[in-house]
Amino acid sequence: MHELYLIQSLLNIVEEHSVTHGFKRVNIMKLSFGRMNHIEPKALEFAFKAQSVGTKADGANLEFTILPVIIYCFQCNKEYEVDRFEFIPCPVCGTNEVEVVGGTEDLKLLELDVD
Ligand SMILES: [Zn+2]
Repeated sequence: MHELYLIQSLLNIVEEHSVTHGFKRVNIMKLSFGRMNHIEPKALEFAFKAQSVGTKADGANLEFTILPVIIYCFQCNKEYEVDRFEFIPCPVCGTNEVEVVGGTEDLKLLELDVD
């Protein structure tokens, strides 16, 4: 259900853009989201295929950029890319004084390739 909602929001954006920019159809939709967002590209594609029928985005390919989980360690004063959800403790110094600074980004439409 999560995916259905996300796709509907995307399709609404596409429709708005098609009115503003006057394109006929969408070839590629470039999307990004943080790794911690529980979004499955395959589930999104499945929902997209079903929901885009009859819209300007019908038949478009989805391209995903999945943003890594990044933590900031207050002891090291540095940022590290870490494996999903395993951000405590710091992989280098072992402290728990870390903060997640990347990987929680919402699904975002980066770019539309249109005709
Ligand atoms: Zn550290």
